[in-house]
Amino acid sequence: QSFENFKLNKQLLNAVEDSGYTKPTPIQEKAIPLTLAGHDVLGIAQTGTGKTAAYVLPILMKIKYAQGSHPRVLILAPTRELVMQIEEAVITFGKYTDLRFVSLYGGLGPKTQIENIQAGVDIIISTPGRFLDLYKKGELFTKEIKTMVLDEADKMLDMGFMPQIRSILEIIPTKRQNLLFSATFGPKVDKFSQEFLEFPERVEV
Ligand code: AMP
Repeated sequence: QSFENFKLNKQLLNAVEDSGYTKPTPIQEKAIPLTLAGHDVLGIAQTGTGKTAAYVLPILMKIKYAQGSHPRVLILAPTRELVMQIEEAVITFGKYTDLRFVSLYGGLGPKTQIENIQAGVDIIISTPGRFLDLYKKGELFTKEIKTMVLDEADKMLDMGFMPQIRSILEIIPTKRQNLLFSATFGPKVDKFSQEFLEFPERVEV
């Protein structure tokens, strides 16, 4: 298998080549085609498996280029560190696109984050709490979100983010593609994934 086998455009393949990745990891081999085909995906994969590129690449492919001013993709992660890691992947693979992304997390004032949102954004990467805070302040238009990713879902549930995630699900369109990644698959993640995902394709590595 090589990245050339996926239906990715030249901009993305060039960025993959620059990154030094020569061949897709097992989670990428399985999740990229399913995500490109529009399925909801339940990915059971730990950090280190290449799970971030497994969803970032097909998402960048699907939204292609900057459009309008409101976010079309929402990626939620439990911690500021993970938000920043995901942002790195979006920077790496989006380098030959004009896609705009904003990272949101607590621990510092929201002023710059708000300015970045107002400048126009395609992808938001956020912790659940900060996303809701800015929504409540009227700084986020959520009706154009068509893709939602929950990364490290098990950790988010363990950290007690369930109520915030439920609130976010209420303010984004019901018709959307959902991707859920979790390192473990216990009863809590199982129950939540049944609520969150529609006819998911399950991929495990
Ligand atoms: P992740 O599981 O997404 O946290 O990725 C773990 C590490 O593997 C990161 O440093 C990635 O840059 C790297 N990585 C992801 N996919 C590939 C690949 N196909 N080839 C080589 N390295 C990769």
